[in-house]
Amino acid sequence: MPLSVGRYAPSPTGDLHLGNLRTALLAWLYSRLLMGRFLLRMEDLDTPRVVDGSADKILNDLETLGIDWDGDVTFQSNRLKIYQEMLNELYEQGLTYPCYCSRKDIQQAASAPHGQTAVYPGTCAQLTKSQRAVKQRDKNPAVRLRVNELLKSDCGDFVIKRADGLYAYQFAVVVDDLAQGVTDVVRGMDLESSTARQQYLAETLNAQSSPIRYFHAPLLVDEAGQRMSKRDGSQSLSQWCEEGGSVESLISYFANDLGLIDDPAPLSAQSLLSEITLADLTTCLD
Ligand code: GLU
Repeated sequence: MPLSVGRYAPSPTGDLHLGNLRTALLAWLYSRLLMGRFLLRMEDLDTPRVVDGSADKILNDLETLGIDWDGDVTFQSNRLKIYQEMLNELYEQGLTYPCYCSRKDIQQAASAPHGQTAVYPGTCAQLTKSQRAVKQRDKNPAVRLRVNELLKSDCGDFVIKRADGLYAYQFAVVVDDLAQGVTDVVRGMDLESSTARQQYLAETLNAQSSPIRYFHAPLLVDEAGQRMSKRDGSQSLSQWCEEGGSVESLISYFANDLGLIDDPAPLSAQSLLSEITLADLTTCLD
């Protein structure tokens, strides 16, 4: 068994933008430099946001970029039974509870001045059976995971199954990383704030210290210095190519921008792999 198992886990909610592609390239380089396995997982649980045809387009873009993966692509939508089993396990350990709060309730009750993300103050954590039964009449609950003291002040008990019945990203991602034996996660810096929660969940599910190491890649910014986003229609690989760019010039742009190489000549992903060391790569990961 290889020592390192990495993965790229895109959400098929639209075309990958250049920032997503750069992260995918870094995750692939990391695994290949370590001679590890590299898996691909489609995170397609958030069905209202999934875009038809997006998964195929993503796979195609990755292939075009020169990124290969081991084994079949995993689709989270095929794994609902596993999430249910894991949720039951946590429930049996008394680690979950139903939460009836709306986003507005939480904003109002949260005392921590955190700006964007309100810390969940634990409103529903101690409800009695009869209080739950009353609330249940008006609303389907979300399911929250009880967290440790450290996370309590950071984010509070967090949602692992949403009130609309969908498994939360924070939950499914960890269940899958553990089930697939992932040891090294390389992903964008935008997910760094999720890492403490995911490590905690991995430790809880695995009953030992988390076997997963997390690395975060800097986010690519556009010409205006703005972080790229799928919603804003940031540049995709097809657009890059339509504007006259080649795949090799894109790899070169990524590698030079990250300081991995100091040569503007276009090159393939495979050539980049042979030109750099793991030490080079880890200097641009946190
Ligand atoms: N599916 C997540 C996204 O596309 C990434 C999950 C992860 O790498 O942990 O943002």
